[in-house]
Amino acid sequence: MTTLTQDQIQQLLVTNHEHECEGMGAHKVCVRIEAIADLPTRFGDFQIVAFSNTRDEKEHIAVVRGSVLDGEDVPVRLHSECLTGDVIGSLRCDCRDQLEAALKLIGNMESGLVLYLRQEGRGIGLVNKVRAYSLQDQGLDTVEANQALGFRDDERDYAVAAHMLVSLRVRSIRLITNNPRKMDQLSRLGVTINGRIPQIIQPNQYNRFYLETKAAKSGHWIDFRGHEHLSEQADLPILEGMSPDGFGGAGVDETSAHQPDD
Ligand SMILES: [Zn+2]
Ligand SMILES: [Zn+2]
Repeated sequence: MTTLTQDQIQQLLVTNHEHECEGMGAHKVCVRIEAIADLPTRFGDFQIVAFSNTRDEKEHIAVVRGSVLDGEDVPVRLHSECLTGDVIGSLRCDCRDQLEAALKLIGNMESGLVLYLRQEGRGIGLVNKVRAYSLQDQGLDTVEANQALGFRDDERDYAVAAHMLVSLRVRSIRLITNNPRKMDQLSRLGVTINGRIPQIIQPNQYNRFYLETKAAKSGHWIDFRGHEHLSEQADLPILEGMSPDGFGGAGVDETSAHQPDD
């Protein structure tokens, strides 16, 4: 596997240091690559690319495998930060399962990347997310909980992601997603999407029942303690061996970038 070389890294840093543009998306956000380093992980060898942006203090990152510069059909996964799930292993959501599945998948490929977007609770922040959890504990209904958790289309996710791909000089991607709507939003921002890779999660003996329950209940489900769980990522899980209804065949890489909205 080839990685970004020191020459390529220096060139990216110099180009980005001088980079200015009118920005992308409704909020005209512009990002710059600030630093790049090797990142060996339990899922394989990656490089980490840290970005600054013009809109806020959030430091978004790309976890990159292989040499993606001027790459075509690069497998890409978008992941929204979830401290409680990704780091603590919370079972109130499936964020960590999805992140690990994406890193494992890309870790076995020649090239690919995960854009890790620092928008906890889809941009509402950790305090508000914990507030929303608390409201759910107190029996708030799904609609109110959804609103409290910031469940709405947030163009900002996709604008930052689109610009990060431009900064990394990725020419075209195959999006790792179970959510065709995500592809529409990204392509409207000028990202060339040449296909979709459904994300199939492989359960083990310990989490099979848990994952199957999540996959079977769309959007939200109640655990045995009566806690409501919500999908904080834009994708619902598809399990290995399960028929991914309406999402295309398991493992099939579809070629059309224009999926109908569901
Ligand atoms: Zn820019
Ligand atoms: Zn989560």
